[in-house]
Amino acid sequence: MDHNCIFCKIAAKQIPSSFVYEDDDLLAFKDINPAAPVHMLIIPKQHIATLSDCTDSHAPLLGKMLALAPKLAEEHGIAAKVGPDGQRSGGYKTLINCGPNGGQEVYHLHVHVYGGPRPWRGLGT
Ligand code: AMP
Ligand code: ZN
Repeated sequence: MDHNCIFCKIAAKQIPSSFVYEDDDLLAFKDINPAAPVHMLIIPKQHIATLSDCTDSHAPLLGKMLALAPKLAEEHGIAAKVGPDGQRSGGYKTLINCGPNGGQEVYHLHVHVYGGPRPWRGLGT
């Protein structure tokens, strides 16, 4: 744990958050400042500052993080669907910001999951 890291403090339950998922390796919680009707963050419990700190050894953990997104999306009503007429609807955006040029503000690796009816704030298309 990095004692200066807000997401480590969330993982340690030292500060409150709206949890939506927890297992031995991962946590997911609602973003405090949502940019879309549904905005969740998936984090590893282990402190990893950025995606650039990941190596091949992190591939299973990164895979788990990404594989959690569709499960959360289903639970929160934002999964991508195909209707009987073939019409597509729903869906969501996943995003990892990395470093200053990537727009990262919290230096504990996280995957954003954004969904729900548009427009969304500042996320483009
Ligand atoms: P990023 O710019 O990718 O580092 O995104 C950091 C995200 O963390 C932002 O969307 C913030 O709204 C969110 N955030 C910061 N503090 C908290 C917190 N205490 N609980 C939930 N989300 C937070
Ligand atoms: Zn941390």
